[in-house]
Amino acid sequence: MPNLTDISTIRDLCQRHNFALSKGFGQNFIVNPGICPKIVEAAGINEEFGVIEIGPGIGVLTKELAQRAKKVVAIEVDQRLPALLSETLAEFDNIELVMQDVLKVDLQALIAEKFAGLRVAVCANLPYYITSPILMRLLEEKLPIEHITVMVQKEAASRICAAPATREAGAISYAVAYYSQPQLLFTVQPGSFFPPPKVTSAVIQLQVRKEPAVQPRDEKAYFALVRAAFSQRRKTAANSISSGLGISKDLVLAALQQAGLSPTVRPEQLTLEDLCRLEQCIAQQKAGDKE
Ligand code: SAM
Repeated sequence: MPNLTDISTIRDLCQRHNFALSKGFGQNFIVNPGICPKIVEAAGINEEFGVIEIGPGIGVLTKELAQRAKKVVAIEVDQRLPALLSETLAEFDNIELVMQDVLKVDLQALIAEKFAGLRVAVCANLPYYITSPILMRLLEEKLPIEHITVMVQKEAASRICAAPATREAGAISYAVAYYSQPQLLFTVQPGSFFPPPKVTSAVIQLQVRKEPAVQPRDEKAYFALVRAAFSQRRKTAANSISSGLGISKDLVLAALQQAGLSPTVRPEQLTLEDLCRLEQCIAQQKAGDKE
């Protein structure tokens, strides 16, 4: 079994397959032997689980997952990798490779087809350039996933895990907290990867909620409000919401007052409940305007 955390083994594998790592696909492979076991351990993966891995690369984390899970479905976009993976993962019969862009895969159908009767988790060292779109897809589609344990850029990890109504919170923190309970598990230094990225990384875990943290009147309108509130970070919520939603500032101020919120409140001071109430009040103010 090739040692995939050994750099000379990786170089030899890449050379034999005429494979050059792609920066564009965010290819930084884990070479610190302690990291993959730590991720899989933290995810609590065992025989009861079917695991979706996003971006197996040459299979270092895939192997670790396959040793513990019932089944692993690894989704990879780089069409050059199956040749390498069929060599590095040859000994496993519980790994299936899906060669597609993860943002285009029908995940609902994939889970129903591949993981019937299994608990489902996501575990991955994500391609950092699409961290938010991947997490938002996994959460918004309300998939039957128990938890998501992923390596991301440390800065992104802090933003994703920031509690609403704290200074670090941004639109993504509100979306993540709506669908899940996030936690930053541990940081990982650049030297743990080949090639080393310029940034520090962190492993985060999102425990997916069975029900969203709050129940807005209209989920679509609620998220439009969240996006608008955070569209211009240095402005007050009233200004951002007014320009983001294309409604008058007077209407937003009336809604803020109705919701019991200050006219100068900053978006990052709002809780999920505040935003829920505010969305409802904006809808009522709009209806009142039409009368
Ligand atoms: N899991 C490996 C590891 O930890 O060493 C590789 C992780 S590397 C950071 C990210 C992986 O995601 C690469 O294999 C890359 O080709 C793949 N990838 C990039 N964009 C993708 C996409 N849109 N869909 C699926 N996989 C993608």
